[in-house]
Amino acid sequence: MLRHYNGMTRPGASDAVKRGPALELEALAPTNLTNSQHLLRLSTMSVQREQLEADVLIVGAGPAGLACALHLANLIKKHNETAGGSQFSAENIYVLEKGREIGAHQLSGGIMNPKALAELVPDFAKTAPLDTPVTDDAALFFTKGSSLRFPITPPPFKNKGNYVVSLSRLAKWMGGLVEKAGVNLFTQFGGAQLLYERDRIAGVITEDKGVDKNGKPKANYTPGYELRAKVTVLAEGPRGSLTKQLVEKKKLDNINPQIYSIGIKELWDVQPGRIQAGYVAHTLGWPVPTDMYGGGWI
Ligand SMILES: Cc1cc2nc3c(=O)[nH]c(=O)nc-3n(C[C@H](O)[C@H](O)[C@H](O)COP(=O)(O)OP(=O)(O)OC[C@H]3O[C@@H](n4cnc5c(N)ncnc54)[C@H](O)[C@@H]3O)c2cc1C
Repeated sequence: MLRHYNGMTRPGASDAVKRGPALELEALAPTNLTNSQHLLRLSTMSVQREQLEADVLIVGAGPAGLACALHLANLIKKHNETAGGSQFSAENIYVLEKGREIGAHQLSGGIMNPKALAELVPDFAKTAPLDTPVTDDAALFFTKGSSLRFPITPPPFKNKGNYVVSLSRLAKWMGGLVEKAGVNLFTQFGGAQLLYERDRIAGVITEDKGVDKNGKPKANYTPGYELRAKVTVLAEGPRGSLTKQLVEKKKLDNINPQIYSIGIKELWDVQPGRIQAGYVAHTLGWPVPTDMYGGGWI
């Protein structure tokens, strides 16, 4: 059965759906609102939300969230096969993804070290979208007019054994495995607000649909869902909106501060035969000045 829904009406879900109590949401100042905060502008009205209950709710279906879901589903399968007594179901794991489909927000092409994937999916090489194994690696130093190849490639720049992949395609493939394992994946549902029970995170409210740019409900307004879970995993990637709320509330910002850098990516079509497939080069030097940290890869 397919469990990849871009709506919350899904086969077999009716038992789990409850009509939640009307929520009075806390008022926000009407300035500087992000999209996800617009729903909170509906604060002065009572919003009645559908409630769904899960064991584990994972917010974000990038490689991290999908790997988490798959690992949990594998543990459940193993438990159900070997342990007597209580049985668990992967259907009680929900993954929320705000993108229109799995992989839509993974724009990066990349080099993948398959070590972790091999632990999660031992036979990954049979079905994973692995474009090209890395066959040669180099470190280049650029000046404005030329490039010099380092006589040896420093160990951190070595990529033999790794693969050139499209992260979007890899995420789609992982999403397929997660669905097959029975997990419920919901695309086009962004987590907008953390739910608390006293001091504990009790789930997430998803974004309202049909809200105009000023935060006012339109004719097609549908309130977001109230997803309650025993465990909520934030796998939003960098600068996640729920993560920011949590960091602020729990004052976590000075424990492991984020660092920032600017990345620019270009896609080049090159004449066939000019570059050997699987060749990966790391670059240093021009146009980055010597007093700045930076570099690139090809
Ligand atoms: C230009 C670039 C090049 C890179 N190259 C490499 C490389 O060569 N090799 C390598 O190993 N790594 C590379 N990386 C890093 C790699 O992309 C990240 O480490 C990886 O994507 C992190 O995975 P993640 O699942 O934590 O987050 P993400 O991939 O960012 O996924 C997070 C997901 O959560 C969703 N989401 C976020 N917030 C919400 C919400 N509130 N509700 C619902 N869904 C939400 C997003 O839509 C997204 O799909 C590169 C990154 C960039 C930007």
